[in-house]
Amino acid sequence: MVYARRVESGIVLMESIIDERYRLDLIRHHLEEVEEKAGKSIFFCPLCQSDRPKGKYTQKKGAMFWSEEWSAWRFNCLKCLRQATTMYRYLLLVNQGMAQQYQRDRFHAGRTGKGSDCPNPAELKYSYCPKGLEDLPAKMAMDSI
Ligand SMILES: [Zn+2]
Repeated sequence: MVYARRVESGIVLMESIIDERYRLDLIRHHLEEVEEKAGKSIFFCPLCQSDRPKGKYTQKKGAMFWSEEWSAWRFNCLKCLRQATTMYRYLLLVNQGMAQQYQRDRFHAGRTGKGSDCPNPAELKYSYCPKGLEDLPAKMAMDSI
């Protein structure tokens, strides 16, 4: 596995090439008014601030920050996310096509599944489907009897 090693605000980042690519793509094309502050990238949250009133800068922005524990990026928005989330989950919320591509890239690099912060593509259909709903048609058929 090839990692890009950078030092930013005194923190050594062991960012994978894949994460770097998606992070830069998000910053260049998908996130608004990105600022670097205290080791975080801060931006207007595409989930809840895209139609904010223009000219008002009192709103808190969402943030992308480096998690040393996971050696990976985490996203958070104090307005709409209750807890920090992974790059994969964040992409699922803002751009599903990018999320699937990211997951495939991680899968091919052997960095999905158990012990990673990105599920295997094969697990995807289960992670979308709340427990108990997998066999909904059968249950509905039962209800109508
Ligand atoms: Zn938000």
